Amino acid sequence: MKIFYSPKCLEYSQPGHPESPARAEATYNYLKEKGFEFIRPQPCRNEDILLAHSQKLLDSVKKESFFDFDTPAFTGIFDIAVLSAGSAINAAMHCLNANEKAFSLMRPPGHHATGNDLGGFCYFNNIAIACLKARKEPGNIGKVAIVDFDCHHGNGTEDIVFGKKDFLYLSLHQSPLYPGTGLKSRDNCINFPLAAGTSPERYLSALGEGLKEVEKFDPDLLAISAGFDSYKLDPIAGLSLEKETYKEIGKMLSGLNRPAFAVLEGGYSRDLPECVYQFLAGLED
Ligand SMILES: [Zn+2]
Repeated sequence: MKIFYSPKCLEYSQPGHPESPARAEATYNYLKEKGFEFIRPQPCRNEDILLAHSQKLLDSVKKESFFDFDTPAFTGIFDIAVLSAGSAINAAMHCLNANEKAFSLMRPPGHHATGNDLGGFCYFNNIAIACLKARKEPGNIGKVAIVDFDCHHGNGTEDIVFGKKDFLYLSLHQSPLYPGTGLKSRDNCINFPLAAGTSPERYLSALGEGLKEVEKFDPDLLAISAGFDSYKLDPIAGLSLEKETYKEIGKMLSGLNRPAFAVLEGGYSRDLPECVYQFLAGLED
């Protein structure tokens, strides 16, 4: 397992915003103490962004000429967003080329960014960009499954991969909750909306059901949107997973026996470092 991380991802913040630099930094420190190895990521290129997004979105992030209450136009955000997307690409290529799992511990997150719009703390869709890029590289990456266990539906990812026959998108998320999408499955997008307070047992059984579909799909690459806001103490969501549940999630994903990489999405509690650690420990199994 290698972790892609750059302290440059700490260089934007807004007082009171849950998606804080402290969450990434504390996770980095915790994983470093646990002995994980880190690699500095490289930024992606504009053409990589355009695999998933419109020129209009790229330009507006570059010029910082947009308004979204949750997703502010921070000074310098473009350079950090292309580093976060580049890190996801690096993680995908690492798992394919080095035959070793990889995790991108970066911010901003990505799964709410649609083809044309940013939102929900996300500027560019890191995981979609990484998957689309991986499919363009030599190495016969035909089919890609994206499993998203963030507490929110990955409306951006669904928007980008919807109807693409070489992609399968599986999301487990709380409903009702922002962004209000993912109420049912459609075409190549499988959604499990879960009520607030859903127990870890019920959650894992839904995940098991979803992963059966992933197995049937038989992907060449497994991409994981790892969000930890489904944790019982998360301040902005209402599922009730335990720290250890993330280890089970990691094990179940590892059990698919595919080249796999994960990228950090949400997760806003003080226990984020331990939740991430549990997940990586399970994924490494
Ligand atoms: Zn989330």
